[in-house]
Amino acid sequence: MKRVRLPLLALAAAGALALTACAGDSGSDESEAPESGSEEMMFEEGTTMAALSDAGTITIGTKFDQPLFGLQGPGGVEGFDVEIGKIIAGKLGISEDNIEWVETVSANREPFIENGQVDIVIATYTINDERKEVVSFAGPYYMAGQSILVLADNEDIMSEDDLVGQPVCSVTGSTPAAMLEEIGAEPVLTDTYSNCLEPLRNGTVVAVSTDNVILAGLAAQNEGEFKVVGEPFTDEPYGIGLALDDTDFRMWINDVLEESYADGSYEEAWNATAGTVLPFVEPPTPDRY
Ligand code: GLU
Repeated sequence: MKRVRLPLLALAAAGALALTACAGDSGSDESEAPESGSEEMMFEEGTTMAALSDAGTITIGTKFDQPLFGLQGPGGVEGFDVEIGKIIAGKLGISEDNIEWVETVSANREPFIENGQVDIVIATYTINDERKEVVSFAGPYYMAGQSILVLADNEDIMSEDDLVGQPVCSVTGSTPAAMLEEIGAEPVLTDTYSNCLEPLRNGTVVAVSTDNVILAGLAAQNEGEFKVVGEPFTDEPYGIGLALDDTDFRMWINDVLEESYADGSYEEAWNATAGTVLPFVEPPTPDRY
């Protein structure tokens, strides 16, 4: 079916004209104002935005076991990454109920994007050059950094220097796993961060190392059992992963992120999720590479 898509500017101009015309005859009748949420989605034909908007559904990969960012609960998956996904879907005219959430663990994010199992991945996903060889990234929308989680009564580990030669749990396919190798720790790798907690409890490993915000969520979920120590020792800019070379979609998601910064929806999403434990910080400007 061929569908005519008006450029957004033309639509905005038409709307402005219509409003001017109304103003003359009925004064300031509030019923003339366009209802929020009723604006028709118009995307250029052939774009991913048009395809998703027409389909009325989007498949998003996220974590299912990371409190604050992506956690499967009784009412569905929740967290800051999930809220970012809802904001993007909303701009495509897709309601929350029509988002299909798929669990992506650290190691399968690139393959899931590459083979089309998901439309986007929002999963504490660090933007880096190696990953940019096979997928694209919108964002960053948050800056995390690698840190260390130990048992609450541990007094021996204070920084990454104390991890040298020590067994430390992290996750296959993650940037912290590679960094542990680099600093001379002995990485003990599993598939998800929640699977690192039992080895930490029983002493198989002395610490868990990944992004500070993930560790903060695990510590908050298990009150009194663990603590985060030291200062973050890497930069982990979180991006939204999508198909390599889908530049229109990447730039459009960057626009959506910037709109969410400006209209307060980003801060609202943060406050309702990660913000219950972590302070709000001004979001980074997306890198429009
Ligand atoms: N942000 C890091 C990464 O993308 C660690 C967190 C994770 O594994 O999701 O690898």
